Amino acid sequence: MIGNPGEVRRCILIVEDSRTQAEALRSFLEDSGFSTSVAPSGEKALEYLRASKVDLVVSDIIMPGMSGLELCQALRADPELGDIPFMLLTSLVDPLDVIRGLESGADNYVTKPYDEAQLLRRIGRTFERRARPRSSTTPSPIEITFLGSRFAVRSEREQILDVLISSFEDIARANVSLRAAEEERAVLYAQERQARRDAEEARARAEEANLAKSEFLAMMSHDLRTPLNAIAGYSELLALGVRGPVTAPQLADLERIQRNQRHLLNLVNDILSYAKIETGTIPLEMAPVKLEANVRPLRAVIEPQAAKRGITYEYLGGDPNAVVMADLERLEQVLINLLGNAVKFTADGGRVTMRCFTRDGMGIIEVTDTGIGIPESKIKVIFDPFVQVDANRGKRDGVGLGLAISRKLAQAMGGEIEVRSEVGVGSTFTVSLKLVEPAA
Ligand code: ADP
Repeated sequence: MIGNPGEVRRCILIVEDSRTQAEALRSFLEDSGFSTSVAPSGEKALEYLRASKVDLVVSDIIMPGMSGLELCQALRADPELGDIPFMLLTSLVDPLDVIRGLESGADNYVTKPYDEAQLLRRIGRTFERRARPRSSTTPSPIEITFLGSRFAVRSEREQILDVLISSFEDIARANVSLRAAEEERAVLYAQERQARRDAEEARARAEEANLAKSEFLAMMSHDLRTPLNAIAGYSELLALGVRGPVTAPQLADLERIQRNQRHLLNLVNDILSYAKIETGTIPLEMAPVKLEANVRPLRAVIEPQAAKRGITYEYLGGDPNAVVMADLERLEQVLINLLGNAVKFTADGGRVTMRCFTRDGMGIIEVTDTGIGIPESKIKVIFDPFVQVDANRGKRDGVGLGLAISRKLAQAMGGEIEVRSEVGVGSTFTVSLKLVEPAA
């Protein structure tokens, strides 16, 4: 506490147009042992000072109406009020504020946002200096040129010294925090550079690994397909009896060999497709594709598969004018995969439907089944490679690449695949592709 404890509290008039700032300062000064009053403008401050005695004025500089500097000048020119100690609060936006303060006759200043200890020190010093005897003659003005402007300072030497010491103190503090900020910036910069280098290295490593993986897959798939084709060829020769008579049990075994060969070949083909998509080596032949005319004929592919399981397949039609941008062969691959899955994951006697329509500039093909559905927790991941919903694993064909390939293809064509599903009710997969604007 610097406001004389036990004695009458010294009274400070706070002149501040911001109510929140005035309140913060008021509560701090009250806690430090002063009594305070607040004036919201220079004009109100003058009125107050004419009616009440205060020991110090602490005033903001920039206020609507009379500024802090003008208030100080008005006080100094007033024979009754000329001697009231006066401190300015400056945000130091303008470095000339300090000199202008001196010129107006202010005792000292504090920069905003103020440091509490510093504010108390400066108030204390002002009171101390004011308590010392002063010369009775008015000091002659000192001419100062600062930043190209001339100022006439009339203050006493001690008062000038006070202000100069204060500004020196501020500069020293600013310097310290500037240096600290610079050091911090240098550290941050070094950290950021290191992080960028690390990220770059990690990206390069990941790219290399990805490429190596895809190259390996592509090579393996090729090396696997050649012997698989040989197995198909020779078992067919045997089945045809080219190498001699074949018994019925031998024929049944040959059929099993052929079925497994086809299954393995499908898997290898899927892996090869996926690896090619990953390495970006699938060329797309994008062209306008009439949806209705190209989707309807897929019935020929899917109906026989569905019929074998007693599943009804129905094409529900679509807008005959809808034309999308797509690679037709790839679009067919995607739809056949979705239709195949719909049949694969639907119980015998179920129903699979397909329809197309347009919405928000997109041509949409929807494949719906009354199958087992996909649990909520798996919906997000079934488009990831090698993901299969556990319950289905092993019971059905596939390695879990079909949807991953389909999504990559749809995205490569500028479209998307999405799914809605409910366990035990069925699933709907939608492929959306950009519509070709009809020629004006
Ligand atoms: P695969 O069919 O080879 O398992 P996919 O990538 O085509 O691989 O499908 C991944 C998984 O998504 C399937 O294993 C299955 O669990 C689930 N799934 C795909 N389509 C359907 C569908 N129509 N109904 C229910 N589950 C499906």
